[in-house]
Amino acid sequence: SFDIHIIGGGLAGSEAAWQLAEAGLRVRLSEMRGNAAGDTTPAHDGDRLAEMVCSNSFRSDDAENNAVGLLHREMRDLDSLVMAKADEHRVPAGSALAVDREGFAAAVTAAIEANPNITVIRERIDSLPDHPTIIATGPLTGSALAQAIAAETGADALAFFDAIAPIVHRDSIDMDVCWMAARWDKGGKDYINCPLDRDQYAAFVAALNEGEKTEFKEWEKDTPYFEGCMPVEVMAERGPETLRYGPMKGVGLDNPRTGRWPYACVQLRQDNALGTLWNMVGFQTKLRHAEQVRIFRTIPGLEKAEFARLGGIHRNSFIRSPELLDPALRLKSKPNIRFAGQITGCEGYVESAAIGLIAARFAVAEAHGETLTPPPAETALGALLGHITGGAAAETYQPMNVNFGLMPPLTGPKSKKADRKKLYTARARDAFAAWRESVARVVEPA
Ligand code: FAD
Repeated sequence: SFDIHIIGGGLAGSEAAWQLAEAGLRVRLSEMRGNAAGDTTPAHDGDRLAEMVCSNSFRSDDAENNAVGLLHREMRDLDSLVMAKADEHRVPAGSALAVDREGFAAAVTAAIEANPNITVIRERIDSLPDHPTIIATGPLTGSALAQAIAAETGADALAFFDAIAPIVHRDSIDMDVCWMAARWDKGGKDYINCPLDRDQYAAFVAALNEGEKTEFKEWEKDTPYFEGCMPVEVMAERGPETLRYGPMKGVGLDNPRTGRWPYACVQLRQDNALGTLWNMVGFQTKLRHAEQVRIFRTIPGLEKAEFARLGGIHRNSFIRSPELLDPALRLKSKPNIRFAGQITGCEGYVESAAIGLIAARFAVAEAHGETLTPPPAETALGALLGHITGGAAAETYQPMNVNFGLMPPLTGPKSKKADRKKLYTARARDAFAAWRESVARVVEPA
């Protein structure tokens, strides 16, 4: 018998299991890898818990200047198993926390298997249980369970693809060529517009058609992408005019330098609260990264563009958390179920583990008849949690790494960028300590 059931023994599920067990609750941890049927995901290699499927990095460990470094520190403070084992298996990587992935996963697995409060069962779960459960099945959730989640939440509330358009640093855009305006002058001058004439447009479409693409992986092919996230190069393939009637429409955009609408136009929309990052609207793509840089720099005004993130499309199941989950990560329509990890719409190993940690802390409090106040948005953990449970717009919800843009803006006079990071982290340190103090009775019951 058990108190809480965790489905999925990845980064989030392993951390959650540990937190629950250390608080004295009995955990059943169901992991499909290693079962008799040979279930696995297309990205995992073996059957260890907390396997890192790609890079071996937990990114920056700098808690003074970096939001993910700050999240590391907060997690260590909350006795994170994932952070403890990452620290033990650290390999040299400058200010980043990179780990020996084999040693790390083996150590997490051993710690969990040795914990008397945790029973690991190698089984696949295909439906939503009626007992207290944390679902932490990740971006590659088994398809029967994904269907059960879609049936409970509404099919359009579960996304299958992460379609990312390139994001450009604002200060690398040539504003002598581009201008700010909204189509038909509606709603302020919110977009940066890059005008193309007929020849430039034709050359651009030809470049897209010839550009080198990355293939969809075999397992990604059978999930259709929605029209709303069709790659630009697929639109270009459909005909020379398709893009001009889609994301590259020039109509309704008076170019102040010519007094006319451009033949075609690329628009960028502000991507972060600070206004330093702008995304290319409708420009999700499967082009190779080097090709994106080469081809997108032929767009007038983007000749010197620096990209904060290049475009991509890959399979990633995540739910529309801001509308589906309550502030304690419970499914509103079925509150015995909590979600944790990347399926909630956070992005990254560290973020997934962090949400596993806080989901478990909420569950512990609930099991003791208490309520845990969420960490405040000034902290890294609170900012990430807030993004998931309410901060982001539900319709356009996309997975997100932790970053300072998720925190309330700094008040007081503007200072240099470097100082601002320190101001964010110093404020976070105080806010975290105050929260810790205020919830001590719930977090550390006698
Ligand atoms: P996972 O770690 O994937 O754990 C989910 C677990 O649930 C798995 O063990 C799975 O076998 C199990 N499971 C699934 N369905 C069922 C079921 N029905 N029943 C029982 N068990 C089930 N993040 C980074 O920070 N750096 C990277 O380099 C990086 N690369 C990535 C590459 C790929 C291809 C993918 C898909 C993701 C990548 N991510 C990366 C994103 C993300 O951080 C990781 O996917 C992370 O592992 C998510 O943690 P999680 O605990 O939510 O899910």
